[in-house]
Amino acid sequence: MQRVTDLADPRRCKGASLDGQCQNFAEEGSDYCRVHGGKDLAPARRLKQYLLTKAQDRERLAQFAENDAAQDAAGRGGRRFWVNWNGD
Ligand SMILES: [Zn+2]
Repeated sequence: MQRVTDLADPRRCKGASLDGQCQNFAEEGSDYCRVHGGKDLAPARRLKQYLLTKAQDRERLAQFAENDAAQDAAGRGGRRFWVNWNGD
Protein backbone atom coordinates (compact mmCIF):
# COMPACT_ATOMS: atom_id res chain seq x y z
CA MET A 1 0.00 0.00 0.00
CA GLN A 2 1.43 3.34 -1.04
CA ARG A 3 1.52 6.13 1.53
CA VAL A 4 1.25 9.85 0.86
CA THR A 5 4.43 11.90 1.28
CA ASP A 6 2.46 15.13 1.72
CA LEU A 7 -0.10 14.92 4.54
CA ALA A 8 -2.26 17.48 2.73
CA ASP A 9 -2.32 15.36 -0.42
CA PRO A 10 -5.90 15.39 -1.80
CA ARG A 11 -5.52 11.72 -2.74
CA ARG A 12 -4.98 10.76 0.88
CA CYS A 13 -7.46 8.27 2.40
CA LYS A 14 -10.07 9.91 4.64
CA GLY A 15 -10.33 6.87 6.91
CA ALA A 16 -9.16 6.88 10.53
CA SER A 17 -6.22 4.85 11.77
CA LEU A 18 -4.77 4.35 15.26
CA ASP A 19 -2.51 7.41 15.02
CA GLY A 20 -4.97 9.75 13.30
CA GLN A 21 -6.00 9.99 9.69
CA CYS A 22 -4.96 7.16 7.44
CA GLN A 23 -1.85 7.97 5.38
CA ASN A 24 -2.48 5.56 2.53
CA PHE A 25 -3.39 6.77 -0.92
CA ALA A 26 -7.12 6.49 -1.58
CA GLU A 27 -8.19 4.06 -4.26
CA GLU A 28 -8.70 5.67 -7.63
CA GLY A 29 -12.22 7.13 -7.75
CA SER A 30 -12.66 6.86 -3.98
CA ASP A 31 -12.00 8.85 -0.81
CA TYR A 32 -10.69 5.75 0.94
CA CYS A 33 -7.91 3.23 0.59
CA ARG A 34 -8.53 -0.50 0.22
CA VAL A 35 -8.20 -1.00 4.00
CA HIS A 36 -10.96 1.54 4.67
CA GLY A 37 -13.44 0.23 2.12
CA GLY A 38 -12.37 2.21 -0.93
CA LYS A 39 -13.44 -0.67 -3.13
CA ASP A 40 -16.95 -0.93 -1.73
CA LEU A 41 -18.39 2.46 -2.62
CA ALA A 42 -21.43 2.78 -4.87
CA PRO A 43 -20.63 3.15 -8.58
CA ALA A 44 -22.41 6.52 -8.82
CA ARG A 45 -20.26 7.96 -6.06
CA ARG A 46 -17.14 6.58 -7.68
CA LEU A 47 -18.08 8.11 -11.00
CA LYS A 48 -18.68 11.50 -9.40
CA GLN A 49 -15.33 11.38 -7.65
CA TYR A 50 -13.72 10.23 -10.87
CA LEU A 51 -15.12 13.19 -12.80
CA LEU A 52 -13.96 15.59 -10.08
CA THR A 53 -10.51 14.06 -10.23
CA LYS A 54 -10.45 14.40 -13.99
CA ALA A 55 -11.30 18.10 -13.71
CA GLN A 56 -8.52 18.61 -11.17
CA ASP A 57 -6.10 16.73 -13.40
CA ARG A 58 -6.98 18.89 -16.37
CA GLU A 59 -6.35 22.01 -14.32
CA ARG A 60 -3.02 20.67 -13.13
CA LEU A 61 -2.04 19.60 -16.65
CA ALA A 62 -2.77 23.12 -17.88
CA GLN A 63 -0.58 24.55 -15.15
CA PHE A 64 2.25 22.18 -15.94
CA ALA A 65 1.89 22.78 -19.67
CA GLU A 66 2.31 26.48 -19.01
CA ASN A 67 5.30 25.84 -16.80
CA ASP A 68 6.73 23.48 -19.40
CA ALA A 69 6.35 25.99 -22.21
CA ALA A 70 8.00 28.68 -20.10
CA GLN A 71 10.92 26.42 -19.34
CA ASP A 72 11.26 25.38 -22.98
CA ALA A 73 11.36 29.03 -23.91
CA ALA A 74 14.16 29.50 -21.40
CA GLY A 75 15.88 26.53 -23.04
CA ARG A 76 16.39 24.23 -20.07
CA GLY A 77 14.76 21.52 -17.96
CA GLY A 78 11.22 21.57 -19.29
CA ARG A 79 11.03 18.02 -20.56
CA ARG A 80 12.75 16.48 -17.58
CA PHE A 81 10.37 18.21 -15.18
CA TRP A 82 7.45 16.77 -17.10
CA VAL A 83 8.81 13.22 -16.96
CA ASN A 84 9.47 13.42 -13.23
CA TRP A 85 5.94 14.59 -12.56
CA ASN A 86 4.56 11.53 -14.32
CA GLY A 87 7.02 9.14 -12.75
CA ASP A 88 5.22 8.33 -9.47
ZN1 LIG B 1 -7.18 4.21 4.66
